[in-house]
Amino acid sequence: MAHFFRQLSAVVAICCGMAFALPAPQTTNTFTQQRDRMVADQIQRRGVANPRVLEAMRTVPRHRFVPATLQHLAYTDRPLPIGHGQTISQPFIVAYMSEALGVEPAHKVLEIGTGSGYQAAVLAHLARVVYTIEIVPELARRAAATLKELGYTSVHVREGDGYAGWPEQAPFDRIMVTAAPDRIPQPLIDQLRAGGRMVIPVGAAEQWLTVVEKTATGVVQRRTIPVRFVPFTRGRAG
Ligand code: SAH
Repeated sequence: MAHFFRQLSAVVAICCGMAFALPAPQTTNTFTQQRDRMVADQIQRRGVANPRVLEAMRTVPRHRFVPATLQHLAYTDRPLPIGHGQTISQPFIVAYMSEALGVEPAHKVLEIGTGSGYQAAVLAHLARVVYTIEIVPELARRAAATLKELGYTSVHVREGDGYAGWPEQAPFDRIMVTAAPDRIPQPLIDQLRAGGRMVIPVGAAEQWLTVVEKTATGVVQRRTIPVRFVPFTRGRAG
C-alpha cells in the first residue's frame, strides 16, 4: 500500500512538473525561437558567418517592422510588403548585405531607402551611428516611430531623396543602398570616406549587388550576387 502511494505521488509530481514546465508559451519566446531558426536555416546555411551580423539578426525583432497582419510571416524566407508598393527585404539579403558592408563598431553609416527601418536597426547593432533617408514620407515617419519605440537612439531618419546623400554628416565609413538605381549616384561616392565601402544594387532589368571600395586614388567596383530590389526613385528636386 505504502509502495502504491509512493508511486502515485511520484506520478503526481511528474504531472505537476510537466504542468509547471508547460506554461502558455510567451509570444516573445516564440518570436525569439523563430529568429534563431531563421538565422540557422536561412542565413548561416547559405554562408553568412560574421558573428556580429548573426547576433544582430538574432536580436532585432523583425516582426515589429512589418504590418500587424503579416507578423506571422516576419521570419519566413521572403521579402514582405510594407505599403506604398515597397518591401522589407528577405532576411538573408539583409544579412548578406550587412556582412558585405564590413561594418566596424566605430563606423558612421549612411543607408538610402529606410523602408520599414529594419535594415537600419540591424546596422545600429554593428555601427556607432546610422543615418538613413527615405523618400516616401509616410514610411519615413513610421520607421522613425518604430525605431524610437524600440530604443534605437543611434539611428537618425530623414525624409527625402537619398540621391544627394546627407552632406551635413559626410563623410561616411560605410554606405548601404537598398533601392536599385541604374548607375551609382555620384554624390554617394563623394560622401564616402577614402578607405570606405558602399554596397548597392545596380541595374534595371538585371540587378547586381555591387561592392564599391573607395581608395585614395579612385574607386573599385565588384559585382557579387544577382538581386531584385525596388527601383531607386527620384524626388522632384532631381
Ligand atoms: N531597407 C528597407 C527596405 C527598403 S525597400 C527595410 O529594411 O525595410 C527600398 C526603399 O527605398 C523604399 O522604401 C523606397 O521608398 C526607398 N527609396 C527609393 N528611392 C529612394 C530615394 N531616391 N531616396 C530614398 N529612399 C528611396
